[in-house]
Amino acid sequence: MYYRNRQSIPLEPITSQPTAGILDSDPFSLGESNPVVSCTGTGNTSCLVYSTYGVWPDRRDCTAAKAVYPTTEQELLAAVAEGVKNGQKMRVVSKYSHSIPKLVCPGGNGAGLLISTRDYNKNIVVDTNARTATVDAGVLIKDIFDYVSSYGLAFPHSPYWDGLSISGVLGTGAHGSSTWGKGSCVYEYVIAMTMVVPASAEEGYAKVINLVSGVADGDLNAAKVSLGVLGVISRVTLQLEPQFKRKVSKVRTSDSDLETQIIVNANENEFGDITWFPSLKIAIYRQDNRVPVSTKGLGTNNFTGFQHQLAIIRATTRVLEEEDEADGDARHKCETSEVQLNILCLIGEGWTNNGFLFRGYPIVGYQNSIQTSGTCNIPIARNFACAWDPSAKGEFFFQTTFSVSFADIGSFIKDVKALVALNPDSLCTLGLYNGILIRYMKKSSGAYLGEIADSVDLDFTYYRSYDATKPRLYEDTMEEIEQMMIFKYNGKPHWGKNRPVAFVNSATLYPDLPKFLQVKDRLDPQGLFSNEWTDMVLNVGGAAARLQTFGPHCALEGLCICTDDSHCAPEAGYFCRPGLVWKDARVCRLSKSGVTS
Ligand SMILES: Cc1cc2nc3c(=O)[nH]c(=O)nc-3n(C[C@H](O)[C@H](O)[C@H](O)COP(=O)(O)OP(=O)(O)OC[C@H]3O[C@@H](n4cnc5c(N)ncnc54)[C@H](O)[C@@H]3O)c2cc1C
Repeated sequence: MYYRNRQSIPLEPITSQPTAGILDSDPFSLGESNPVVSCTGTGNTSCLVYSTYGVWPDRRDCTAAKAVYPTTEQELLAAVAEGVKNGQKMRVVSKYSHSIPKLVCPGGNGAGLLISTRDYNKNIVVDTNARTATVDAGVLIKDIFDYVSSYGLAFPHSPYWDGLSISGVLGTGAHGSSTWGKGSCVYEYVIAMTMVVPASAEEGYAKVINLVSGVADGDLNAAKVSLGVLGVISRVTLQLEPQFKRKVSKVRTSDSDLETQIIVNANENEFGDITWFPSLKIAIYRQDNRVPVSTKGLGTNNFTGFQHQLAIIRATTRVLEEEDEADGDARHKCETSEVQLNILCLIGEGWTNNGFLFRGYPIVGYQNSIQTSGTCNIPIARNFACAWDPSAKGEFFFQTTFSVSFADIGSFIKDVKALVALNPDSLCTLGLYNGILIRYMKKSSGAYLGEIADSVDLDFTYYRSYDATKPRLYEDTMEEIEQMMIFKYNGKPHWGKNRPVAFVNSATLYPDLPKFLQVKDRLDPQGLFSNEWTDMVLNVGGAAARLQTFGPHCALEGLCICTDDSHCAPEAGYFCRPGLVWKDARVCRLSKSGVTS
């Protein structure tokens, strides 16, 4: 009976055409989802690896000697054994490489090995009795959710974007929004993992280990959120639950009492979130709870921001944004974003009541149709791609994402409001990127690098110049917010997002970091799966001291916190100054005379 219920399906990988990185792309001739690994040598040698955005935070390419695409655990084992035998640095990268920091770069000065999970995506094994799914590391979360739904099962929480691999999601501790039950972090629902880790020559240089909840809790707590430094995740077993439906409404209102409503929203809604437009003084509350499966409705979530966009539209939108920057016209950004917001609200931001049409809230639909959305990563036609795809000179942004504890969130919101009160247009830039997305997370039940408190996650997405030496409008406001989250509120930066400075304190935040590093030293004693970036954010051997790279303009890109005017853009009138609300901050502020504070 137990085994009869087990099923597995092969999932066909979607192929995509090679395109160039963002800085040398032809704006209009490309447009298909770009492969993140491109190799020029025979046998997948001499490779470059990018993130989905086509540019790393330091704008430097990442090279690797070779890339491998295992399809089975035997091939994965052989790849790791070969790497260990050669003493080669190794990193795992998913098919779409959606993390912003340089996590997947193997290091080793270009001599490293990239292990891609692009083709490691064949199996989803459902055990209906135990309500579990055991999946290959490279399977995309949407494939898991849709497949288990055909067995009347559901996975409760995940990131909102469906093009992520399950092992990539775990690698950075990714999440949805909830403090109910076990909370919204995917790793809380992992009950077992199979990994391939380095081994001695006698053992064949690599071995498979099984980490099962209740049996190997310490190692599993390390592996649930690992940044990929322990070895390669081969398979993951997820705890599922019976399929359910959700009922979603969005309420657009003033942000006047956001600092108190932010907690009320978390308590009243299992899947609640908020989008906040501080310069427009608007908050949109998502009221979202589960309802019985018998509730009428086949609603879907097809968020407009994750739908395909034509290259010419992406490029034109960017040109308009750059005109506002050049004209110093932040107000115009607010006007544009308000028009955009009104249109989006009218069309329901891609929500439908029946899979086709939006007729208004509430939307009722099955969990797998509501939790995530996507599609723009799937090639459909020339010149259509995601808004951020580097095949057109379109959206180009920074993303600053921290979780702030429930205890501190009210004060933090008040600080942001105080900054806006001083400069009402200073956060108009956020409106062009769908506002600040505010979500909820629960303190981890054990993951060593997981959430450290019940907290509120805030996603700020904002303009980044294509020219690293060029300051942005109201540069100082976002820098002050970033530094308040780091230092004043001890916020926890999302491992898969952010600019480098966000991590200057990260290693000090995790009480269980020593336990994590012990597991790492045991499973990968030579540190072959670590790179310069992971060493810095985990402060291995004091590497955190190298996180900031000081030099001209470094603060503009979040490579440093300014200590000198040269770190800003003095030639353009931007000087290193104290914060306006939090005086300890050091930010790049436009100051015509160069002497005002
Ligand atoms: C449009 C978009 C929307 C997003 N929405 C959300 C959201 O709602 N919530 C949220 O929390 N995050 C969100 N993110 C961030 C995203 O969840 C993380 O960056 C995630 O880690 C990316 O997964 P990936 O499959 O692309 O993995 P990658 O970025 O390729 O890898 C992430 C990390 O996992 C490691 N890794 C991957 N596979 C393995 C393996 N098999 N074994 C060992 N290590 C491995 C990599 O080495 C790397 O360190 C979003 C990102 C994008 C681009």
